Amino acid sequence: MGHRHDHSHCVKDALAQVERVCAERGLRLTETRRAVLKLIWQGHKALSAAEIMHKLKNDKPPVTYRALEFLQQNGFIHKVASLNAYIGCPHPDEAHASQLLVCGDCREVVEVSSAPLDRQVENEAHKHHFEVTHRHLEVVGRCADCRDKA
Ligand SMILES: [Zn+2]
Ligand SMILES: [Zn+2]
Ligand SMILES: [Zn+2]
Repeated sequence: MGHRHDHSHCVKDALAQVERVCAERGLRLTETRRAVLKLIWQGHKALSAAEIMHKLKNDKPPVTYRALEFLQQNGFIHKVASLNAYIGCPHPDEAHASQLLVCGDCREVVEVSSAPLDRQVENEAHKHHFEVTHRHLEVVGRCADCRDKA
């Protein structure tokens, strides 16, 4: 990902998709929810709730947390568990398992989408009589930019 793409397209596309999904499902994209989403889409690096509140100059944490919860529950953003932070989802209009490549150095996150991988996880769960309620995979490592720097 790095700096080799026109990021304004990412932001525009993501917001347009979220707006469309909200309209379709009758969800309300309030000022705060939109502001939080836009902030998260500032880049491809995961942001923590504290960073989001700081940037929003929001002194009411519950408002921010509720907005994050709304965005996450509707699949507009993903929580990056390994960083305890959030990242925008590039395809919020379709139900999918989140598969994330997480850079442990700069916190850049790339979402990939592998159907075979997803099926494999389902198969393994099935073998163990395990009921899957949430499919979320994270692989931690180092992105191309950070590898160049190293
Ligand atoms: Zn981008
Ligand atoms: Zn996603
Ligand atoms: Zn990196």
